[in-house]
Amino acid sequence: MDLATNLNNLRQRISAACERAGRDPETVTLQAVSKGQPPEVVRAAADLGLTLFGENRVQEARVKIEQSPGRLHWHMIGHLQSNKCREAVQLFEMIQSVDSLALAEEIAKWADKQAKTMPILLEVNVAGEASKFGYSPAKLLAELSQINALRKIEIHGLMTVAPWSLEPEKVRHIFRELRELKEQGEQILGAPLPHLSMGMSGDFEVAIEEGATLVRLGTALFGQRARAKRQTSEVGEI
Ligand SMILES: *Cc1c(COP(=O)(O)O)cnc(C)c1O
Repeated sequence: MDLATNLNNLRQRISAACERAGRDPETVTLQAVSKGQPPEVVRAAADLGLTLFGENRVQEARVKIEQSPGRLHWHMIGHLQSNKCREAVQLFEMIQSVDSLALAEEIAKWADKQAKTMPILLEVNVAGEASKFGYSPAKLLAELSQINALRKIEIHGLMTVAPWSLEPEKVRHIFRELRELKEQGEQILGAPLPHLSMGMSGDFEVAIEEGATLVRLGTALFGQRARAKRQTSEVGEI
């Protein structure tokens, strides 16, 4: 793996996708998904100028964050259990994977105890896949105001993991639906939801064309993860 080459290549592809969509590349942030990668790899990525990292397990993240430069920013992108909220609120600058009112309440409770305000994204299971976490679009719209009313959390936007497909065009409609949901959410709240976290190694260009502000890249940046077992969130093909 040559991280510098991969990163250059990805930056070019991100810029090209922005150009096709008439977007300023500054509006898209490359988030390095470092799950399954050791701290040395995070350090190498940081040396190349990457500052935003994503992890999907609290324990793994805790060890890695302790061993990484303090100037880096970390987001939780994996399913969060309520008994891990206290630690997640300590470790992360944003939790992208909030998928229920109960979880949002738990995060708000711990944020309050830690005298913090926690930025969150709401995760949407747009395709309704049984193997994935996330709000159904209808439930999201129904609960949005209640979540927004919680003290100590701030909703910054929406996140999704699209169904796995060899052909990114097949999931374009998923990204478009998330953008439309964001617009409906903004109507309900009467406030902007600035972030759309969508697009991974196999589909980030299409996601950018549909409005992604955060693309979460793991394998395209770092190569295949060592763990043979794939994440449940990655299972399922259309
Ligand atoms: C693993 C993971 C990613 C990165 O996936 P790649 O296909 O390796 O780029 C992005 N988002 C979430 C939620 C993940 O779990």
